[in-house]
Amino acid sequence: MKCSYCENNSIYHRKHSGENLCGNCFNKSIEHQIYKTISKFKMLKPQDKIILGLSGGKDSMVLLCNLITIQKKIPNSPSIIALTINEGISEYREKCIIKSKEYCKINKVKHKIISFKEKLGKSMYEILEIYKNNYGKIYPCNICATIRRHLLNDEGKKLGGTVLVLGHNLDDVSQTFLMNFLRKDFNKISRMNPFLEENNKIYMKKIKPLMKIPEKEILLYAQNKELNFVNVPCPYKIKYPILRKRVQSFLNNCEEYSPEIKFNLFKGFVELSDILWEYNKKLRGKKINFNTCKICNQLCGKNREICLFCEIKEKIAPY
Ligand code: SF4
Ligand SMILES: [Zn+2]
Ligand SMILES: [Zn+2]
Repeated sequence: MKCSYCENNSIYHRKHSGENLCGNCFNKSIEHQIYKTISKFKMLKPQDKIILGLSGGKDSMVLLCNLITIQKKIPNSPSIIALTINEGISEYREKCIIKSKEYCKINKVKHKIISFKEKLGKSMYEILEIYKNNYGKIYPCNICATIRRHLLNDEGKKLGGTVLVLGHNLDDVSQTFLMNFLRKDFNKISRMNPFLEENNKIYMKKIKPLMKIPEKEILLYAQNKELNFVNVPCPYKIKYPILRKRVQSFLNNCEEYSPEIKFNLFKGFVELSDILWEYNKKLRGKKINFNTCKICNQLCGKNREICLFCEIKEKIAPY
């Protein structure tokens, strides 16, 4: 089969668009999509200080590789800082850190690594020992993701960052949207609005330039570019029946018969988050505010006094 755009043989059939693509045209299409997303959603300004959450997996490696190229075209832009969080998931995260370090060294990117142990006094293993009797209500990923989110934001701010860049792809974003919908968490949906200009004392502006690219295409691109990334999932993701996993397999099943389904969800999410954000803005005008944590001032779930991060910190603190 020939490529839809040149004389080369195709290596990939893009089901949702019907295109056949050779390696070169495929790579260009991914790079173009990243650039287009950044530009359409006005994600970056030339003087932004970028903090990139680098896990060592395919998504963040692809993102860093592309941001380096994009930034080279912008004269005098502040250099990117890659920020890796080490939860202390031995073997898995150690491999990720080795690959992240290597890539940053070769590409002369400043790389900062911080750990749960250093910031909270306990590693993931030690935290889970305290929580193991609560599984069912809360799983390792809920705890880990909550801590990672806080540390990325707090450390990113300390490093002088203005934008936190995350490697979430189309699959991640559509799953998160559907999960928030299933939990009836409309506040979260409104705050995920990609047009949102959040850069204040508490939160850095968060952007996701891969949010319109399916996970399988990121993987193919990373392989085409011979990026040295970790290609095994975290052991905790495999082990526990978290909602994300169930939503992921539901969407993948639907996609078999409706290849456009994740794109539709993405478009629906952008439209709905826009409507909900405007609606919430009107409510805030009437002094109805989002619920915030009494300790750290960050947003927290309905009917909570303190956020999950502060709750975890209190629970694991030594007496
Ligand atoms: S899969 Fe879960 S436990 Fe593993 S790094 Fe991600 S959030 Fe943490
Ligand atoms: Zn081609
Ligand atoms: Zn808090």
